[in-house]
Amino acid sequence: MTLRINSRGSQVTRLQAELKAAGFNPGAIDGAFGKNTQKAVKAYQSRYHLQADGIVGPRTWNKLLTDGKKPGGTQSVSRPSSTPRGTSVTGYVNGRARRIQVAPIGNGKMLRTDAAASFNKMKAAARRAGINLPAVSGFRTMAQQKALYAAYRAGHGNLAARPGYSNHQGGLSVDIGVGGYSSRAYKWLARNARHYGFVNDVRTEPWHWTYRR
Ligand SMILES: [Zn+2]
Repeated sequence: MTLRINSRGSQVTRLQAELKAAGFNPGAIDGAFGKNTQKAVKAYQSRYHLQADGIVGPRTWNKLLTDGKKPGGTQSVSRPSSTPRGTSVTGYVNGRARRIQVAPIGNGKMLRTDAAASFNKMKAAARRAGINLPAVSGFRTMAQQKALYAAYRAGHGNLAARPGYSNHQGGLSVDIGVGGYSSRAYKWLARNARHYGFVNDVRTEPWHWTYRR
């Protein structure tokens, strides 16, 4: 499906989530393709040597959907299971490489298996309360963190930790598409996430939650 300025709907939401996961800033993840989303698409396209026209056709989709879905070079499968199977990948904790097992949390994203199991329980509980907790970014490979860090340093990405030192690389942090601090989703998390072991540990980022158990 080709998306462009003024497009609306769930495919736009998906596009915005993928852009954000890739380290670009599409503005609010709200399903409305506005100026900020167009700017992020153009920045994404020029970074990946695609025609920077701000129109999301097959090539741009293909690039967005194939990146970020292969932790450690292994094709991951998104399965909405509460007892996920683990995939062995190379993670980083405090600058050191280590083998970790990751499992799906939806949207093609992964967390360390224990964090994933807890996240999936939390997501199910939120859903019962009528609240959606879409994962926008989870486990990141070294290549993904390097790309985010480069985008951040170049001034067109969110704050990103030095490669090797992000809790995303240990499979412990998840960015959730919650909207802002005043959103229902954020307020629900502020009340309930600790029961599932998640804390909001970056002050300016309502979306960033880390498993500390
Ligand atoms: Zn984060």
